[in-house]
Amino acid sequence: VAADECRGRRERLSAEFSERKVDALAVSFAPNLRYVTGFTGSNGLLLALGGGDGIFFTDPRYRIQAGREVSCRVKVCTGPLLPQLIAAAARAGVRRLGFEAAHLSCALFEALSRELPLGAALVPVAGWIEEHRMTKSTAEIAAIRRSVETNSAAFEQAMRHVRAGMRESDLAAELDYRMRRAGAEGTAFETIVAAGERSALPHARPTAARLAAGDLVVVDMGAMQDGYASDMTRMLFLGHPGAKVKRMYRAVLEAQQAAIAAVRPGVTAMHVDRVARRVLKAEKLDKAFVHSTGHGLGLEIHEPPRLGKKEKLRLEPGMAITIEPGVYLEGFGGIRIEDTVAVTPSGCEILTPTPKELRVL
Ligand code: ZN
Ligand code: ZN
Repeated sequence: VAADECRGRRERLSAEFSERKVDALAVSFAPNLRYVTGFTGSNGLLLALGGGDGIFFTDPRYRIQAGREVSCRVKVCTGPLLPQLIAAAARAGVRRLGFEAAHLSCALFEALSRELPLGAALVPVAGWIEEHRMTKSTAEIAAIRRSVETNSAAFEQAMRHVRAGMRESDLAAELDYRMRRAGAEGTAFETIVAAGERSALPHARPTAARLAAGDLVVVDMGAMQDGYASDMTRMLFLGHPGAKVKRMYRAVLEAQQAAIAAVRPGVTAMHVDRVARRVLKAEKLDKAFVHSTGHGLGLEIHEPPRLGKKEKLRLEPGMAITIEPGVYLEGFGGIRIEDTVAVTPSGCEILTPTPKELRVL
């Protein structure tokens, strides 16, 4: 990330200090820290101050890395970082220090309270930086697009190796390997490969079970590249799919396409979810759709907005979201189809290039 991009993010954050009733913010959650500083290491803290200024704290292992990545002042400390942050906040005259309530352990909170000078207050904040992260810059959408393309390239390459007798875990390993070879630094989440009846488990982990003729196979995979996630689900079938599989597949595909067609600025997240559910209801499959229609993604694989039944948030250009309706029938199998899409000023762009028809192998 360009240093001036992080600086701009800190400035936009500190411009909201007064409405959030803080005069500084302690940033501890790694994806948020990366967003406002560029730091990719595992141990760091930021004291975000007014005017986009900040002091970044880390330990000696990250001295060189922080010097290269972080655009604000860096303080390398031995020992716990938190007391150093509190001392710096006190020196800067901070009276109301915001902290990320959803991401701070109880133990750290107690340490924070103990170290706080008399007269200063801790102010819990939640979802604040996440709110900023929801709408992506052009550079961020480009990074997500690269991650999506890597993910789809890895999928195509791995498809050449799929055959009956292969273990679910073998296919998952092949997908993961291909992602890294194609440019990912890793996977965005544990790759899902689930065959036969196990495809009805929305979050199945790959097992040693072997793919067999007549199996419906769900593949849900995502790359993490330059810090940005991608997410895609595709269905395979070994042999000749029967009428029930074909009917289910058509219904899910129709639901997914209808939901994508509903994505545009100004519509609520729950509206997009409702569109997908309406299509499945017409096929009497709505009760088998047991999760929300999608989620935001970026520096995290799951981040706001959530496209669920009660989400009143309105979509905006620059949001990157998944659209992934699915139906799951215990004892039979499940079908999910998932793309990563970007909300544009006039609608949305499907970033995922992989064809959506059932792959019959
Ligand atoms: Zn997925
Ligand atoms: Zn997803």
